[in-house]
Amino acid sequence: MKGRSRVTKSIVYLLVVAIGLGVSCAAEEVIKYDVHDITRDRPRVMTAPRRLGQPPADAIVLFDGTDLSEWVSDENGGGPARWKVENGYMEVVKETGDIRTKKAFGNCQLHIEWATPRKVSPKETGQKRGNSGVFFMGKYELQVLDSYENETYADGQAGSIYGQYPPLVNASRKPGQWQSYDVSFLHPIFGKSGKCIRPARITVFHNGVVVQNNVEIKGATAHKVKAKYSPHDDKLPLSLQDHNNPMRFRNIWIRELPEQPYLIKD
Ligand code: MG
Repeated sequence: MKGRSRVTKSIVYLLVVAIGLGVSCAAEEVIKYDVHDITRDRPRVMTAPRRLGQPPADAIVLFDGTDLSEWVSDENGGGPARWKVENGYMEVVKETGDIRTKKAFGNCQLHIEWATPRKVSPKETGQKRGNSGVFFMGKYELQVLDSYENETYADGQAGSIYGQYPPLVNASRKPGQWQSYDVSFLHPIFGKSGKCIRPARITVFHNGVVVQNNVEIKGATAHKVKAKYSPHDDKLPLSLQDHNNPMRFRNIWIRELPEQPYLIKD
């Protein structure tokens, strides 16, 4: 019993110190359960997909190849999305604008497949070739680009967090071939003063290869602008970019993920 009371005292001491250091969430997470604590909640059971890339049982399907019912235009006050749907994919119609999801998302896992145009005109180089983007919360762009033997700046090629982090490797397939992104994303958290107290984080697999490994996003992505945060809601729509190239997308699904309190330093 003496041992147990010493442990309890140590935990209380740790808590006081931890709170004093402003890492209460982290401390709580670490000491709430003992090792192999039998009272700890078991993870819920979920039916896994039969094949990698298929939506798991709890996924929200954003596009199954049939219609754009989960999407609206990001322009003109959110009217109908004007991209075309055929042969199981959606395709950007030039100058119809970005599209965004009707639902809002924060922490999430996303699967999306995309293809750049098979025909490459010699005039289309760098950022003009197969450009689009997946904007988490409409603000943080995971670049989509034809980066197969196509030179551009490193933090603007496929798999980059635009203007911030180049991909770890270039895992691009040839123009016209289907490619995939699998992403886990944590939304930024803002304190009462509006200051960002937990930057957004992102991990990206491009065609099954890790290209972003839990990086901290520095703020909203933009062209030739240093990224910075402005406070916003914990959930916002996801958007896809119209960059004037007939990019194709298919098999898009998303899963909402819980918060990870030990990553918040308040
Ligand atoms: Mg783009």
